[in-house]
Amino acid sequence: MTAFRRDAADILAELSALRAADAPTHGGRVLSYVYDSGVAELDELAAQAARSVQPVNGLDPTTFTSVAVMEAAVVGFARRVFHGAGSNADGEVVVGTVTSGGTESCLLAVKAARDAWRAARLGTPRVPRIVAPVTAHAAFHKAAQYFGLGLDLVAVDPDSGVVAPGAVEDRLGDDVALVVLSAPSYPFASLDPIVDVAAVCRSRGIPLHVDACIGGFALAFWPDELPAWDLAVPGVTSLSADLHKYGYAPKGVSVLLTRGRDRQRHQYFATTAWPGYPVVNPAMTGSKPAAPLAAAWAIIEALGEPGFAALTATVARATNELRRLIDGIVGLRVVGEPTGPLLAVACDEQVAAEDRVDPHLWADAVRASGWHLQLQPGFLQPDGTRLPHTTHLTVTPVTEDVLPALADALTAAADSVRGMPGIDGARLVADLAGQLPGGIDALSAASEGLDSETAAALLAAFGLLSGDGAAGALPPRLAPVLALVEALPGRLTERLLVELLARVVEPAPEDPAAPADQPVGGDSRPQRSP
Ligand SMILES: *Cc1c(COP(=O)(O)O)cnc(C)c1O
Repeated sequence: MTAFRRDAADILAELSALRAADAPTHGGRVLSYVYDSGVAELDELAAQAARSVQPVNGLDPTTFTSVAVMEAAVVGFARRVFHGAGSNADGEVVVGTVTSGGTESCLLAVKAARDAWRAARLGTPRVPRIVAPVTAHAAFHKAAQYFGLGLDLVAVDPDSGVVAPGAVEDRLGDDVALVVLSAPSYPFASLDPIVDVAAVCRSRGIPLHVDACIGGFALAFWPDELPAWDLAVPGVTSLSADLHKYGYAPKGVSVLLTRGRDRQRHQYFATTAWPGYPVVNPAMTGSKPAAPLAAAWAIIEALGEPGFAALTATVARATNELRRLIDGIVGLRVVGEPTGPLLAVACDEQVAAEDRVDPHLWADAVRASGWHLQLQPGFLQPDGTRLPHTTHLTVTPVTEDVLPALADALTAAADSVRGMPGIDGARLVADLAGQLPGGIDALSAASEGLDSETAAALLAAFGLLSGDGAAGALPPRLAPVLALVEALPGRLTERLLVELLARVVEPAPEDPAAPADQPVGGDSRPQRSP
């Protein structure tokens, strides 16, 4: 037997210590990223299911047949709850794929639509477009970039975050490979006008993807009556919904449903043009874990529709309570008509300046009392109007248990910053530029070809990286960071964020004199900074 270099218990103890420094994944203190059902047995079931398929390779469901059975069951469940179980008038059935997450589902929806568009226009040199409201998830920006499509963004109403159906219709043309709408959108929880746009898309033969990644598995069980938004709507040709959000599964699992087998086959990649095994991949990866699929499948088997309905009822109650509470806080307003378990909070400009609450100062004050809300930057739309900067809250079943304490924190934080003006990003940038050789012009020019060292130096000047280039945890106040994001040229911010994230995972330089293998024990491992 191979001897361990280090004791297993010791390794796991180190991991627990690392985990203790993470933002808390349970208990409702983090209102984004994590989806806590509040049911410990469900987490335990998911963990056991994941463990039982740990060595399986999901690449080949004909070799590992458990994968095929579980995937068919998960797709079948999704198809049922999103009203795609029957075939439509054209005899098209809904088929699907389990993917590694929302981004992969969105990427694949775009890839399939692009290839279907090309197949119908063999040999065309034209570049197809995606048409979507500005509120569509960034995954579609990524898809456009990865797969070489144009992205034509449609402005939304700055007050409600909702897009007008006519504004989408105006952009349609023969070069549109896909229209994307959200149910609901991440930034404002707006439910896009799916019925109206679907009717237009259908009459013009343009595919329509509904991105229900965040809200899908909650909206399907939402207690209030909603306008039709899923595969019940003729003209909706694909739909994505994440099981690692309101499916309460561990990260790494989402589902993409497509109407029509022929439409979906464009999603696949297959090749026999190499000397190895024939490759057939429905999604982006080759070898892949079966664990997230098994966990999602087990959760679906355990909860069924009644279990999802009960959890969703809890989420809906908590969301309504929070909305009422925040609407009652002088100086803040909930943006538009949020649909589903999330909402965005903006400054209420209707009240006098001394009563206004800046949502980012508010989020930082809330954070100081141990709750994590998510700051969203203001946004200049293509039509010149501005969307306000906001603070996002994702509500989960466990939120209901902590509502009284959360309500106190939200109210007290608003009281502590009421009347304080938001951070002036332009001023921050001017101050920083003053400290840099070349000033603001150098900053803007820098956004094109910034090298890693210069980017790190800028981050250090902004206080986001230590002088030796080491990145640490987030600063205690995020409002100034978001103000910079709003004020700096977008290309520059993107480059700086790349640098920051890359530095976070870069190992510390190693001492060339040190032995290649470290002795057992915690003290001699490389340290990032003394
Ligand atoms: C979360 C989300 C995505 C992307 O999903 P990931 O699982 O983070 O890759 C796509 N669309 C919407 C609306 C989302 O909220």
